[in-house]
Amino acid sequence: MSKWALYVTMPPSAVKTIRDLIFYEYAKLIARSAGFAGNYAFIMKKYTELREGRLAWSNLTREHRKEFERGKSCAYCGSPRNIGFDHIIPLSKGGTDTPDNLVACCASCNTSKGDRDLYDWWVNTLHRDEDTLPRIVAGKYLKLIYDIHKEYGTLDSTDLDGDGKLTVLDLGAVLGTQQGSTPSAQAKKPATTPHRGEPKTRNREGVGDTHTRRTHNTVSPSGRGLINRIRRKLNI
Ligand SMILES: [Zn+2]
Repeated sequence: MSKWALYVTMPPSAVKTIRDLIFYEYAKLIARSAGFAGNYAFIMKKYTELREGRLAWSNLTREHRKEFERGKSCAYCGSPRNIGFDHIIPLSKGGTDTPDNLVACCASCNTSKGDRDLYDWWVNTLHRDEDTLPRIVAGKYLKLIYDIHKEYGTLDSTDLDGDGKLTVLDLGAVLGTQQGSTPSAQAKKPATTPHRGEPKTRNREGVGDTHTRRTHNTVSPSGRGLINRIRRKLNI
């Protein structure tokens, strides 16, 4: 059994695609907020509502407010010391320098996370259960990653890291795997291409046969420079 399997929950069989998984993970966050963590019936009800468009995920303003109410402490570990910010989706992997992609973050967590994908870092480096990821961060991440998969045309994919299973570790597997390309670069492609039917083609081109962990070393020099400049500015 893989080491990560201890910290990752396999989704129920109804959850088949990246799109399903994002809604399922978000339904679990709603359940945690509502005091129904682990309540399968509640989670699947919310999942279905999200999936069918009968329930919208909470808007960013609400999440920014919740974050503000937390005060200036690390979104990951709660430490009030050496607070800067973290790009949830690293800039080097196509993340944007905008509030929806930023959370308060201590120097220690920032260094530890580096340019890793959020779930990859949480599960494989910190060895924590995926469901212990702070709700604010997870909520922001799921919205961001949904948009990125939409741009990549991978929302209907069933396995992106090539291990034959659909888990949260597949969500970040697209980041940085398309050489020299970012989600925004992808968006500049003709918008007329329907995304249905694309995922299989993309898998053959390489997304499916590479492993997400391999992408850690593919940070572009310019992306690294930008992060370092921001860190220097913040003294973190
Ligand atoms: Zn921290």
